[in-house]
Amino acid sequence: MDGDGSDPDPPDAGEDSKAENGEHAPIFCICRKPDINCFMIGCDNCNEWFHGDCIRVTEKMAKAFREWHCREG
Ligand SMILES: [Zn+2]
Ligand SMILES: [Zn+2]
Repeated sequence: MDGDGSDPDPPDAGEDSKAENGEHAPIFCICRKPDINCFMIGCDNCNEWFHGDCIRVTEKMAKAFREWHCREG
C-alpha cells in the first residue's frame, strides 16, 4: 500500500536578502573600500586609513614606523 506519497514543495520563500549595507559603510584607502578586516594603517598626515595590502605595508613594517604618511616621497 502506498503511504504518504505527497511531498509538497515548499513555497518560494528562499530569497535571502542580505542587509543592505553597501553605501553605508565608510570607505577607506586608495581602493575606496570599507574595512575588510585586515591590517590597516593610519596616515599621520591626513588621518585616512589604508589597507596594508593595498599599500604593501605589513603589520611588521608598520611597527617600525614612528609615523606613516600615505604619500611619501
Ligand atoms: Zn585598500
Ligand atoms: Zn595621508
